[in-house]
Amino acid sequence: MEKFPHYPMVIGDRLVTTGSQDLIDPANGECFATVAIGTPDDVAIAVAQAQQAQREWSQLSYGERSLALLKFADVVEQHTDDLAKLESQNAGKPIKLAQNGDVPFSIDNIRYFASVVRRQEGAAAGSYVGGYTSMLRREPIGVVAAITPWNYPLMMAVWKLAPALAAGNAIVIKPAPNTPITTIELAKLALEAGLPAGLINVVTGGPDVGESLCTHPLVRMISFTGSTLTGKRVMELASQHLKRVTLELGGKAPFVVFADADLEAAVQGAVVAGYMNTGQDCTAATRLYVQNEVFDQFLDRLIEVSKQVRMGDPTQSDTDMGPLVSQTQRHKVHGYVEAARQQGIKVALGGELPEDAGFFYPPTILVDPPQTASCVQEEIFGPVLVVKRFTDEAEAIALANDIPYGLAGSVWTANVQRAMRVSAALEFGTVWVNDHIPIASEMPHGGFKQSGFGKDMSHYALEEYTIVKHVMFENTGAQRKPWHFCAFGDA
Ligand code: NAD
Repeated sequence: MEKFPHYPMVIGDRLVTTGSQDLIDPANGECFATVAIGTPDDVAIAVAQAQQAQREWSQLSYGERSLALLKFADVVEQHTDDLAKLESQNAGKPIKLAQNGDVPFSIDNIRYFASVVRRQEGAAAGSYVGGYTSMLRREPIGVVAAITPWNYPLMMAVWKLAPALAAGNAIVIKPAPNTPITTIELAKLALEAGLPAGLINVVTGGPDVGESLCTHPLVRMISFTGSTLTGKRVMELASQHLKRVTLELGGKAPFVVFADADLEAAVQGAVVAGYMNTGQDCTAATRLYVQNEVFDQFLDRLIEVSKQVRMGDPTQSDTDMGPLVSQTQRHKVHGYVEAARQQGIKVALGGELPEDAGFFYPPTILVDPPQTASCVQEEIFGPVLVVKRFTDEAEAIALANDIPYGLAGSVWTANVQRAMRVSAALEFGTVWVNDHIPIASEMPHGGFKQSGFGKDMSHYALEEYTIVKHVMFENTGAQRKPWHFCAFGDA
């Protein structure tokens, strides 16, 4: 029998190899590695390790923590090629995306949080009540549990651990069961870079391990990225101990094209933002609303450019789009397209299952479905674009906002005033004007409505991983204070 590499859990400074689950290469459907399977007992050990590590780590000065994280970023950078290859194989991601996107952006994120922790802002210390000085401290929360999805495994792990660690916490991460490799490698690199054992622990497994983390009494915060359905369950579990929660959930981004927009730029933008990562992106442009006057022209060109997307072997540097992450995901995506067909919705491109091995699905375009159709209202998470008409600005805004999600959206127009109005009216955590997808470590990412709450990236994320404490000093030394008579004795 072929022996595949086995990826262990990282708990404290130990590599724990218990259990074995196959990991499938989405490009050919074959096993290429195995991973340990964690249990609630592993969760308990990891949390204990994290708690111990956090006590010392939180005592370090901001500068000391920053330096340690910068070293960590350097070590991760030295392993860029390996991480990119592993991420590509494990998630089916085109190598050019992993190499130029996921990995460098993750490194940038660690460096950003290593830096910004040294310049935290807040209210000035001062005499808000006469005779007293008030000041704020931002305390770490303690042990943070992170639960991550499979679409950007490395990046999602980093978006959580970088601000959590910078703020003085320790972390236990549970990656998605099918894409754990780069999170495990990251934790190993942290040890190599000299970060204390126990600061980053990785426990592998599925919902049972996730639920153990959510209910462990010593876990003080759950930072979750995944589907809205699971997010609701996480919040319910967190309520038992009133844990802090941040939820980065699903999305169904509108992409609103006005007749005055640069149409070619909008088409190029839609193709990139719709099919990137095979459409498995929570901010992917999935609902394209196009003004009547330019609808046909836009659609024709969209179909033409979509045909040029090079789907294939993710290891090849000229591949634009790899497979979907799993057979389950492919069934789900195709199910939405089949349902649309049955409802009489026109499939203008794609929508057929390729016969090759692997979980490939072609760029697919659905034309003018009703706003209530499942392909419009639900997250498909595949390379499926829905293109719909609108008449005027008011209708465009109403259609774009008519969705339970609120993660991201974009508006395409050459009219500055319209861009201002529409970007203000869209109920989404990120709104792009004349582009769709780019993000920056310095800027927040997070949802409105059922896309969750809390922010990843930016100093707002650092705030998520701290608790504000008011410390009030009495300045006069008086034994009886001027206010005491309210509760005892006379003035
Ligand atoms: P998922 O909700 O199925 O799983 C996410 C994680 O939760 C996995 O690690 C999974 O094992 C774990 N989990 C499952 N059940 C659990 C439970 N009962 N208790 C605790 N943990 C549990 O999501 P997915 O399919 O892995 O990822 C795709 C989803 O993630 C999409 O909805 C996508 O929009 C969303 N996502 C959101 C963002 C964002 O920033 N908002 C980013 C990436 C992905």
